[in-house]
Amino acid sequence: MRQTLVAGNWKLNGSIDDIQTLVKGILDGMSGANGKAVAVCPPYVYIPMVSELLKGSEVGLGAQDVSEQSSGAFTGEVSPEMLKEIGCQYAIVGHSERRSIYGELDTDTANKYKAAMDSGLTPILCVGELLEERESGDTENVVARQLDAVIDAVGVEGLAAGVIAYEPVWAIGTGKTASPEQAQDVHAFIRNKVAQLDTVVAEKVQILYGGSVNGGNAAELFAMEDIDGGLIGGASLTSEAFLAICTA
Ligand code: PEP
Repeated sequence: MRQTLVAGNWKLNGSIDDIQTLVKGILDGMSGANGKAVAVCPPYVYIPMVSELLKGSEVGLGAQDVSEQSSGAFTGEVSPEMLKEIGCQYAIVGHSERRSIYGELDTDTANKYKAAMDSGLTPILCVGELLEERESGDTENVVARQLDAVIDAVGVEGLAAGVIAYEPVWAIGTGKTASPEQAQDVHAFIRNKVAQLDTVVAEKVQILYGGSVNGGNAAELFAMEDIDGGLIGGASLTSEAFLAICTA
């Protein structure tokens, strides 16, 4: 039985005040999460503060990205070891915004996945197709290619050390959620693809859905057989909206 995970990706949002209010609100309402694991991914600079605020709680902490490098002359990068030291358990890798805005390639994502995993972080690997790729019937090819890059880097057993997030790019921040059936179809494709290599890993790996999840659609999505929770953007920015998903 896989545990449901709800992870909030705050992206480039917040201030010290906003984030203190948000974390306090989440902690106050956490009792309704009934068995779900919950995590938040603040901007890098706020991670130490959020780590302090979360001390003694069950809410996990993650980063929105991570360097594939450990140390050295890599201006602007933050290593997995640094994230571990400051209290992170998770690092998102391959978010579609990293891929589309910052030109991150499948191999870059795979290297970040490996670096995060090797440091004992749980990588949250984002995969998903663009609207034109869905419309041309390429969803499975795109998701398979993105997964294969990671499998090439860490082996199928490496997937057991992470979490996969299926995030159709056309559903991110658009208010257009994939239907539970559309999402389930891709989640099942991912699990079957992993099962062809290793049935134990396939059974174990959590596959989250991301893309305009909110308190009104989360329960239906999370009820699908292969959907093990959500990666939440916009609706993770207020405690009310985030808790509505955590308690769905
Ligand atoms: C995301 O960016 O990972 C995401 C799922 O965003 P939103 O929930 O706003 O669609």
